[in-house]
Order: sequence, then C-alpha cells, then structure tokens
Amino acid sequence: MTTSPAGSPGPADLPGIRLHAPAPGWSLGADVVVVGSGVAGLTVALRCAAAGAKVVVVTKAHLDDGSTRWAQGGIAAALGEGDTPAQHLDDTLVAGAGLCDEDAVRLLVTEGPDAVRRLIATGAHFDTDEAGSILLTREGGHHRRRIAHAGGDATGAEVSRALIAAVVDAGGHVPQEDEDASDAGTGTPAATGTETATGTETATGTSAGSASGTGAGAGSIEFVENALVLDLLTDAGGRTAGVTLHVMGEGARDGVGSVRSRAVVLATGGMGQVFSATTNPAVSTGDGVALALRAGAEVSDLEFVQFHPTVLWLGPDAEGQQPLVSEAVRGEGAHLVDADGVRFMVGQHELAELAPRDVVAKGIMRRMRETGAAHMYLDARHFGARMWAERFPTILAACRAHGIDPVTEPIPVAPAAHYASGGVRTDLRGRTTVPGLYACGEVACTGVHGANRLASNSLLEGLVFAERIAADVVADTEPAPGEPVPPAPSGAPLLASEARYEVQRIMTAGAGVLRSAESLATAAGALERLHTAAVEAHERDGKTAEPCVETWEATNLGLVARVLVAAARRREETRGCHWREDRPDRDDRDWRRHLVVRLTPHGTLDVRATDGPALPSTRPGGRPAVTPAAGIGDDGAAAAPRRPRP
Ligand SMILES: Cc1cc2nc3c(=O)[nH]c(=O)nc-3n(C[C@H](O)[C@H](O)[C@H](O)COP(=O)(O)OP(=O)(O)OC[C@H]3O[C@@H](n4cnc5c(N)ncnc54)[C@H](O)[C@@H]3O)c2cc1C
Repeated sequence: MTTSPAGSPGPADLPGIRLHAPAPGWSLGADVVVVGSGVAGLTVALRCAAAGAKVVVVTKAHLDDGSTRWAQGGIAAALGEGDTPAQHLDDTLVAGAGLCDEDAVRLLVTEGPDAVRRLIATGAHFDTDEAGSILLTREGGHHRRRIAHAGGDATGAEVSRALIAAVVDAGGHVPQEDEDASDAGTGTPAATGTETATGTETATGTSAGSASGTGAGAGSIEFVENALVLDLLTDAGGRTAGVTLHVMGEGARDGVGSVRSRAVVLATGGMGQVFSATTNPAVSTGDGVALALRAGAEVSDLEFVQFHPTVLWLGPDAEGQQPLVSEAVRGEGAHLVDADGVRFMVGQHELAELAPRDVVAKGIMRRMRETGAAHMYLDARHFGARMWAERFPTILAACRAHGIDPVTEPIPVAPAAHYASGGVRTDLRGRTTVPGLYACGEVACTGVHGANRLASNSLLEGLVFAERIAADVVADTEPAPGEPVPPAPSGAPLLASEARYEVQRIMTAGAGVLRSAESLATAAGALERLHTAAVEAHERDGKTAEPCVETWEATNLGLVARVLVAAARRREETRGCHWREDRPDRDDRDWRRHLVVRLTPHGTLDVRATDGPALPSTRPGGRPAVTPAAGIGDDGAAAAPRRPRP
C-alpha cells in the first residue's frame, strides 16, 4: 500500500467500496451534508447555517431518535465554584488510562464551559437552584460536582428538544410530500435553491442566520428524515463530493438518491447494536464507521467499548435497547450490593461505587462470577419516594414499567454495551483522513476518551467539536470537488438481515466485558465465515442479499464487528474498558498506543499501531504518522500475533 507523507492514503489507496444498492434516482445539492440529528449533528447544522451555509441534515428515523435523547446523567463542564478545566482534565486523563490525546482533552475541558453556556443561550434549560445557579452533581471518576443536568435525569431529552426547536426556529425545514413532488423522478435538485460550489442546486430552505447566536448569515437547513445514508461520494482526487442515501417510505424522494456537497459531517452516533444487550437505540448500528471505512478513512480505538455497569437487568434472554440506571443514582449515594446485601465495591477502589465505569463493570462481573449470579443489585431505597420522584423520574418510571419499585426494593442490574470510545479518527478540527469528510460526536475518535470515556464527557464532546467543525467547514477555501467517481459495477455483497442477530450473538459471547485470546479468536473466526460466505456467494453466482435497510445495517454491523475484534485481539493487555482475562495487566511499555484500522481495496483490514498515545495528524505535515505494527495487513484472524514496535 502506498501512503502519503503523513501515512494517510492517497486517492489510489481508497478502497472505493460501496454497499450493493440501486443507482441514485434523484439528487439534491448543498454546501454540507450532516448525517445524524443528535447533539453533534444538530449543533454542526445550526452553526454552519448561522455562518451562511446551505445544510442538509439526513437522519435515519425521526429527528430525536438517536442516543442523545436517552442521556440521563448530564453534561460535564467546569462550571462550579472552585472547579477548573485543569481538574476536569486530570479526571478525564485518569479515566482514559494513558491513551487520551492530551491536546484534545485540554481543548474539550477549556472550551466546554462556554459551549454549555451557548447551548443554554440556544434554549436548553438546566436544573437550577432558587438563585438561578446551575445545579451540579457528581458521577463516577469525577472528583468534583460538575455534571449539569436537566429535568432531573432527562438531560438528553432536554438537549434534543432545545436543539430541534432551535433548528426549526432557524428555518429548519422538513419537506412535505407535495414539495417532494417538485423534483420527482427528474433526478434534479429541489426547485428553489441557489447554485452551490458543487455545481448542483441547493435544497429548499429558509434563513437560519439568526438562531444559533454565532453570527448572522443566509444559510438554510433542510431535514431528510427516515433516510439511511449508504456511502460517501468522492471525486477522482479522493475528495468528498456528497453521499448516497435511501429514503424510506412514500413520497417523491423515496428510494436511493444522492446529495452532492463539498463537505460531509458524520454524526451517526454509536454502535451499541453490535452487542445483544445495549443502552443504545435501534439506530446505533455503526453506519458512520462502516461508511468511513469503505470510503478509505481511518478508524481508531474500536476495541474500547464502554459497558455501562448498571443497566436494568430484564432477564437472561433480553435483547436490544435496555433501560439505563444512570451513574448519577450512584452519585447521589446508591449502593451496589450482591444478593446478600454486601457492598462489594468497598475496598476495591477509593471511590467505591463511584470508581470509573470500567472498574465498576469489572467489579460487578467479578462478583457475578464468584457468586454465580446473573446480576447484582443497586440499592437506593434510602432516597425515599420524594427524592426518587423529583430527582430521577425517568429511571423511576422505567423501573416501574418493568415491575421493579426502587423505592421499596433494590434494582437488579448488569453491565451492557453503552458507549464507543473509538470511532472515525479525526484531528482537532474534526477532519478525518479523507478530505472533506468530518466526524463528530460518538462516531468520532478525537482522542478525548482514550481507553475509557469519563462519564458525561460525550455530550460535551459533541458540542465542542461540532462548533470546531462548523468553523472549519465554513472557512474551507479548497476548490469544489469534481464529479463523483462512479461506483464499481457491483457493490459490496450484503449480509442477510438475520445476520444482525448472529453478529450480536458472536460479539456478546466473544468480545463483551470479558474477553480473552480464545474468545476473540472464536469471534473472529465466526465473523470471517459470515463475511466470506457473502463474498463467495457473490463471486460464484453474482447473488447477494436483497438491498434494504435491514441488510445494509447488518452489513455495517458485520464490518464494525470485524474491526472491533481485530483490534481487541491485537491489544494484548487490559486497559480502560478493554479487559482481557488472559492479559490482566496494563502494559504501558508496549501498548501505550492506539490501533488504527483502514479497509484495503480488497476488503481486508489493515491494522496499525501508533507510535505513542497522541493520535497522528490526519493531514500531511501534521503530527507523526502511524507506523506499521507487526502483523500488518491482517484483520486479526490469521496473522501470527506480534508486538508493536516499542
Ligand atoms: C441511555 C444512554 C444514556 C446516556 N447518558 C449520557 C449522559 O448522561 N451524558 C453524556 O455525556 N452522554 C450520555 N450518553 C452518551 C450520549 O448520549 C451519546 O454519546 C451522544 O448523545 C451521541 O450523540 P451523537 O450526536 O453523536 O449521536 P446520536 O445522538 O446517537 O445521534 C445519531 C444520529 O445519527 C442518525 N444515523 C445513524 N446512522 C445513520 C445513517 N446511516 N443515515 C442517516 N442517519 C443515521 C441517527 O438516526 C441519529 O439521528 C448516554 C447514552 C445512552 C444510550
């Protein structure tokens, strides 16, 4: 493989793989396409539109269907008296277990307080005391009360509400069916737009200049809901030229189309659905990471999946999204106990139940193994009915809906997949290794989380980096991209829709909280067989699963699972939320480095280690590039395990 001076791929190295899908039948134009409508996507859209850009926001379901609205605990920022960004930095670095990018964290904690204030100015209401000061609570790993919350435990819902209201106030526009008819079947953009840098017309939309408070402009925002973005379009020089997408349901813009733009911001959230039990909603299928890989971008740190320690246990066969019992409940004094009422976290860590999440998740798993129990308990009966109702109304309702009353009985809890600390590798401006492609929020790997995210840093990351991306997008003076290169005659073969459950079963058994060389090898083998069967059937008689949302999602899940397992196999140590039973110790000498993965044009995985804990630049001339680690060019399934260079 040839590489650019900084190690990023040149156009010839881009895999150019796209999902098997019908050719686009309609087209829109914009300055920037934002994929996803959580805290990251909507903040980017608002700030870009305020600076005058024409924005199209594409989202898979309804506007509020991502993880953002489920966030309970809050947003961490040094807003309280006596707290400082430096203390927030220290706590974040400790949680990140030696793999945070310190520059990225410094930026997060320094710009964070003002980003939260701008969110408040945008319309979000946080809980305050009688004097109007923001109430702050503590969560695991924080040595200070610094978590701003809303509606008690409904922070994400309030953030989502406020941002959606702001984009709608700003002229954000959901097209009606009769408007769709204006460009029906013509393959041309919507009717009333203006010429953009890409040479196509912009979508219908009204001014968004005044709403975000970041300056006046004449931008616009259009939403395309119920639309799954499939792949990135690039020109012959490897520069971003837009996306292909599939609109579900009735209307003129149903089926596969394209949005042409000079910048694309991935804000697709997490990949929790790669495991059987997760706190993430159904839309969190890792689409952004899979798209980025197919487009030739690098991803990093995928092995670091945070398993939330206290997810409501719904029985041994429960699948999909499960209710979370926020860390804030422990922050307010709830105890973790076993079936005999023993507080097993005491003595395991100085913060006991408030230790970082990986420590608590491991503590629970260890106790479950020792006692043979399927779950532990979170006991907060001492809060009393009033505190439960006022401080944690959402959790109270979720528990009661499942027949548990936390006021009178301990809550059964067990760990479940919660947060992807890794993702599409970016620099401090949110730029990936593909020019014009940005990543923001949970889909991104900015380096702020290292090997483990500190609680409530993710909403903050979405806010801070969204603003940085918007600044970069609107300042872009690169020439407009050329015509997109046509896709290969047949796209990547698809996994059958049922493969989603097979992938989840494989990942839960082999790459969950408890991992070992053996369990990961089994998982890698099973995933490889799924992948190879699809490829061989396609090569043999040109057959692939019917292209549809379920098969596209299953295929994306299969790809991110392969990458996750390849990285988890390679990382022969225990660090942060990556726990290898066969390698129980942290190995700073050999493993204080990131694993960076890209897809080759042949569909295999190229796994490399960085020289140290800093993520390399995504652009030539930046910070040091990644260097090949031993065992390069494999996906972890077949190569002899070797150590990265010291
Ligand atoms: C139960 C729960 C509680 C949490 N609590 C907290 C907390 O207290 N504090 C905190 O900081 N963090 C918390 N988190 C994490 C935090 O909520 C997320 O990391 C954050 O909201 C992610 O925001 P996002 O904008 O990156 O993605 P999301 O909010 O997940 O949005 C992703 C968007 O992308 C869309 N999308 C996905 N794929 C496609 C596609 N192919 N095409 C088009 N659109 C697509 C989705 O439909 C969605 O609109 C919690 C998460 C969960 C699940």
